[in-house]
Amino acid sequence: MTTIMVLGAGYAGLRVVKKLAHAKTDAHIVLVNQNEYHYESTQLHQVAAGTKEPADVVFDLRKSLPDSVELIIDKVVGIDQDNRKVSLEHHDPLSYDYLVNALGFESETFGIKGAEEYGWPLVDVDTALAARKKLEQTLARYQTSHDPLDLSIVVCGAGFTSIEYLGELVYRLPQLSKRLGFPMDQVKVDCIEASPKILPMFSKDLVDWAVDYLRKRGVNFHTSTPITEVRQDAVVSNDQEFKAHTIIWTTGVRGSHVIADSGYNQKRNRVVVRDDLSVEQHPEEFLVGDVSAVPDPQSGRLYPTTAQISMAQADTAAANVLARMRGQEPQRFTFRSLGTVCSLGPHDGVAEIDRMGTLKLKGKVVSVLKWIVNERSVLELADVRTMLESN
Ligand SMILES: Cc1cc2nc3c(=O)[nH]c(=O)nc-3n(C[C@H](O)[C@H](O)[C@H](O)COP(=O)(O)OP(=O)(O)OC[C@H]3O[C@@H](n4cnc5c(N)ncnc54)[C@H](O)[C@@H]3O)c2cc1C
Repeated sequence: MTTIMVLGAGYAGLRVVKKLAHAKTDAHIVLVNQNEYHYESTQLHQVAAGTKEPADVVFDLRKSLPDSVELIIDKVVGIDQDNRKVSLEHHDPLSYDYLVNALGFESETFGIKGAEEYGWPLVDVDTALAARKKLEQTLARYQTSHDPLDLSIVVCGAGFTSIEYLGELVYRLPQLSKRLGFPMDQVKVDCIEASPKILPMFSKDLVDWAVDYLRKRGVNFHTSTPITEVRQDAVVSNDQEFKAHTIIWTTGVRGSHVIADSGYNQKRNRVVVRDDLSVEQHPEEFLVGDVSAVPDPQSGRLYPTTAQISMAQADTAAANVLARMRGQEPQRFTFRSLGTVCSLGPHDGVAEIDRMGTLKLKGKVVSVLKWIVNERSVLELADVRTMLESN
């Protein structure tokens, strides 16, 4: 029997599996994932700030998968492309006829000294929870230490994840101040960004609105400030030092290390795929989501790595696996953005919706839109019951 193996149960992998199962193929579908649950990566900043609990952003894979799919819980450690085998940490190697690799993202440190040791990344449920614990313990310690650095927080990077985290953080801090007894007026929040731009994917008026929103709630922005080193109690940019005992590392992501470990031709653990999302010289193998680098035929640049694009790629990859099995021509990947929604805490945000021109939104209406986007993703990846249980 033909075996289709899917690696990773994030947005991309889970959607591929659902599409394949729905097509009622005779093939044996195997999903390998390191956890028994799927997590909504797009909500990790909320877990890290404490405005959501892990249970709000995860769902059980076994409950949401059709019985026809075999689920193997293990860590992928390598892929042997020529022999079509996947090595796992605890199981024997697995053979496949078709492979869809959706192993997702990891934190990118850009080789900056100390970033891995002292920066707290937000890349999965464990790291988001660890960042929350670090924040709350450090703020609580002020009661006995009276050290101003216990009330100082540095957020590294001013892209999407950093800004969404800052939005949740400034919402949560007054609640924590009441609970933990630290003086709110002595809290210091710095956001440090190498480029001159904040939220580069949005137009200037929305960026200005978001920056003003966060500034009014106490965030100090430092753009054109490249981080050169991270220390236990400071972020350094050449001769400037931003001292703090909580350092959140959200400067960017790279693909899974399994890509480089397996000897792929890659850059930052991403592989440039062909227009049908298959790998050069391996028509049986597809890469989707944050491990893939897909050129946009219109601009010639690579598409950004987002959940929205990952799910669109999943649809194409699933269709192309089936096409290859049936001896048909695979389809090209095409993508039309629906827009981008950036939350600023639970009740505000900015959004650009790409439908018949660009619709720009800001404020409370965006939080409703974000809720719809999040729930739609859970609905599409799991089922109605999971969506209702997560509320
Ligand atoms: C805080 C935050 C907010 C974001 N907000 C948005 C947003 O609003 N909109 C948007 O479009 N995008 C957003 N993104 C980006 C989006 O989350 C990613 O682009 C998306 O998750 C990529 O999907 P994926 O399926 O490729 O990978 P992932 O979601 O990373 O899933 C990979 C899966 O593979 C598993 N896995 C990894 N390594 C192994 C291994 N070795 N063995 C077995 N299993 C493994 C992981 O546990 C995970 O389940 C956000 C990201 C973050 C961090």
